[in-house]
Amino acid sequence: MERVNHPDAQRPQGAAASAPAIELRAINKSFGPVHANRDIDLSVQKGTVHGIVGENGAGKSTLMSILYGFYTADSGDILVNGKTVSISNSSDALSLGIGMVHQHFMLVDNFTVLENVVLGAEGSALLGRSLSKARSELQRLARDYGLEVSPDTLIEDLSVGQQQRVEILKALYRGADILILDEPTGVLTPAEADHLFRVLATLRNEGKTIILITHKLREIMAITDAVSVMRQGRMVATVPTSETSPEALAELMVGRRVLLRVDKDEARPGDVKLAVENLTVADDAGVIRVKGVSFSVRAGEIVGIAGVAGNGQSELLEAIAGMRRPVAGRVIVNGHEVTTHGEAGAAELRQKGLAHVPEDRLRMGLVTNFEAWENSILGYQDEPRYGGGLALDIGASRREFEGRIAQYDIRPANPRLKTANFSGGNQQKIVLAREMERDPDILIVGQPTRGVDIGAIEFIHNQIVKMRDAGKAILLVSVELDEIRSLSDRILVIFDGEIVGEADPASADEGELGLLMAGVHNKEAAQ
Ligand code: ADP
Ligand code: MG
Repeated sequence: MERVNHPDAQRPQGAAASAPAIELRAINKSFGPVHANRDIDLSVQKGTVHGIVGENGAGKSTLMSILYGFYTADSGDILVNGKTVSISNSSDALSLGIGMVHQHFMLVDNFTVLENVVLGAEGSALLGRSLSKARSELQRLARDYGLEVSPDTLIEDLSVGQQQRVEILKALYRGADILILDEPTGVLTPAEADHLFRVLATLRNEGKTIILITHKLREIMAITDAVSVMRQGRMVATVPTSETSPEALAELMVGRRVLLRVDKDEARPGDVKLAVENLTVADDAGVIRVKGVSFSVRAGEIVGIAGVAGNGQSELLEAIAGMRRPVAGRVIVNGHEVTTHGEAGAAELRQKGLAHVPEDRLRMGLVTNFEAWENSILGYQDEPRYGGGLALDIGASRREFEGRIAQYDIRPANPRLKTANFSGGNQQKIVLAREMERDPDILIVGQPTRGVDIGAIEFIHNQIVKMRDAGKAILLVSVELDEIRSLSDRILVIFDGEIVGEADPASADEGELGLLMAGVHNKEAAQ
């Protein structure tokens, strides 16, 4: 990819031309006791992709919301193209050429793409434009920037990636020169994310300025020209991307050294602990999502299942965990064939030594209305250590959870807080602590670090490896290919409900894995 590492070299001469597209000076913003932005300075050069990284809660979204007029700063100055401006709502921002691509799309589901793009483009000459003119303008933008999407399709019929294109088109249609994207790839497949980056590169090359918020350091390294790091409400550094590294950025984000690669020894696999034989599983609608899959996991190894979300991973995990009855085939856990399903099946498997960290912690792993300590024993409350049966020993349960709060760095450190009030990453740690501290023989874990901060990711990865080294059999499902590659001892690739390949993480090539995940090898083989 062509990179503009020294943007000044590319810009026309002259005072106005050399002013930054955006300059923030000493911005402060508090929400009650929370000081979300503290004396923030930021300068974004024109015609660049500027990354902003930081852990959850660092204040990134707040800062951007101030820039596009959703919040007003308590103090500080905003300069656009060298001029001090006041931005008190999104139409102020738009009239200054600032457009926002929201993390949660703000499109009207039962309107068409065209209607959504035109909708709300009020207060300007756009109102008078005929719809057919708008249509051709939309089509031109879509063509120029590789944002193909049919103008007459209803939003509800589009994939998430396509909806995001509509958000970008909407901003461009309104004449945005400066585009803010807040965590745009969280919802995208790897292929969609690649496409988005090509679009952003095109926009940048056309002279537009892009501000990209992401916590994925690989994306920062791949696409940005400069990167700013926020930590606990402060701006701690801005550096040219060519002069930094993922390790250096991680350290700035967290405030201490973070090991991004998992440090682990060769696996020493023992007996088979989990076996799946010709397993076929349907989803709730009766559609077959897992198609005759067979594999096994031995004690002391981590088997990773790589795949783009929605290729049967969820149904596979649920069937193995005893929560979903398979259509055909067998699951054998610790030598015991799973025959009971649903709640009873899951409970029986826990007794047989299987722990399960579900992919969807909100739907399956937690009751968000419960206090945190209650979730920390959920599913295990009948065990003698908690008093057993009816006489729950609340004191013992809470004390145990306090230990885990310290060990897993669960924040805030309050066992009585309602689970809904923890961030996603901390909720994930509550579930992980519960399942991993049971000392199970087999751990099946889906998306272990989704929504989790980079420092905690290191901890979680190390815990998983520790369990492996203690002789546990671990099945890992993740849509993060990096995570699969760095943790797994063997990789299985799932596509359209089938295991389409097996790879050795030491020698597997990322491109090749990507093709397998996209089903390309499979199709070629069939031809
Ligand atoms: P980031 O985008 O880096 O994850 P945010 O800007 O969303 O961080 O949040 C920064 C801090 O401000 C967090 O502690 C968050 O809980 C708090 N915060 C953000 N928005 C609000 C709000 N509307 N009301 C109260 N607190 C908020
Ligand atoms: Mg945010």
